[in-house]
Order: sequence, then structure tokens, then C-alpha cells
Amino acid sequence: MQQVKELIPRFTKEQLQERVSALGQAISADYKDKDLVCVCILKGAIPFFADLIRAIDHETMCIDTLRATSYGNSDTSSGVVKFVKDVELDLKGRDVLIVEDVVDSGLTMKEIVQHMHDLGAASVKIAVCIDKRERREVEVDIAYSCYQLNEGFIVGYGLDYAEHYRQLDGIYEVVLANS
Ligand code: IMP
Ligand code: MG
Repeated sequence: MQQVKELIPRFTKEQLQERVSALGQAISADYKDKDLVCVCILKGAIPFFADLIRAIDHETMCIDTLRATSYGNSDTSSGVVKFVKDVELDLKGRDVLIVEDVVDSGLTMKEIVQHMHDLGAASVKIAVCIDKRERREVEVDIAYSCYQLNEGFIVGYGLDYAEHYRQLDGIYEVVLANS
């Protein structure tokens, strides 16, 4: 693991809260009469998920969690995705909203969406905190995102560099020591 030289602030706690609140309102309206199940993709989406579900106004909403790991090095995706912790609710005929920290290449998300369809979801949509466009390899239809970013490796608000920095309440860009 390369040493981190600096963390450059990208999105503050306040900026994130404002966007999460707007997303919550849009989701509340869009899922008004639907059988909504929000699925948190562990571990990175935990803070975003916790904030987002509390910004959604929906009486019968349910929540669940899924943990997908992709093999590869720490900052790129290999595209080989394994579900090490599956959802527990029966998703058949239900309206699933996948909640993820970041979509980068899109390879992980593509597999997660397929998995939700395989489990019989009636509809599948994606809410992502950061939509990173630069390295996108497969097309994924992102219905809700807080922010789009074109470059850089980011940490905080659930996002990690080698499992560190998930606890920060803002999002920062990592500058490595020898870069
Ligand atoms: P993808 O399959 O390339 O879209 O990668 C998705 C996963 O890679 C995310 O769920 C993150 O765990 C990780 N990832 C991608 N970009 C970043 C980043 O900038 N910071 C932290 N993790 C990232
Ligand atoms: Mg993740």
C-alpha cells in the first residue's frame, strides 16, 4: 500500500447532506405507490445509505444489505464479482433500489443489477453517491446520484483506501506520496 501524502477536500458534509436530501425527496415521489426495498451495498455505502433512507418518506419501505467483492488490486475493479453476503428478504415482484457508494468501471454494478433481476425483482434502479465517469467500461443506468466526478481516487463517507478513511464525514481526493 502506497503512503498517502494528502487528502484534498472534494465534497463537504453539508454539500453531501443537501444532495442526499434532494435524492430522498425524488425517491419518495417516484416510489410513492411501489413496494420499495432499499439494498445497501456493504461496506462502502453504509453512511450514504443511513442518511438516504432517513431522507425517504415511504411508510412501507424495507431495507436489506448485500456484500459484493471484486477481485483485483485496491483501486481498480477486476470485473469478477462474488456475493459474499446475500440479501435476506424475498425480492420477488418488489421494487429494488440499489444504494452504492461509487460506480467507477461499472463492472461491479452490472453484476449486482443482474443479481437483483435473478432474484425476481419487478424493477431495479440505482442510487449512487459518486458517479465516476472517467473509467466507465460498461453502461449502467444511474437513476439517482449526488455528484459526478471525472477523475481521482476518493475516500471518506464510506469510501476507503485499503480499508482506511471510511469514517470521514466528507469526501476527499487521495494524493499518494510518490505521485
Ligand atoms: P467498479 O466495479 O469499477 O465500478 O468499482 C466499484 C467499486 O470499486 C466500488 O464499490 C468501490 O469499492 C471501488 N472504488 C472505485 N472507485 C473508488 C474510489 O475512488 N474510491 C474508493 N473506492 C473506489
Ligand atoms: Mg463499494
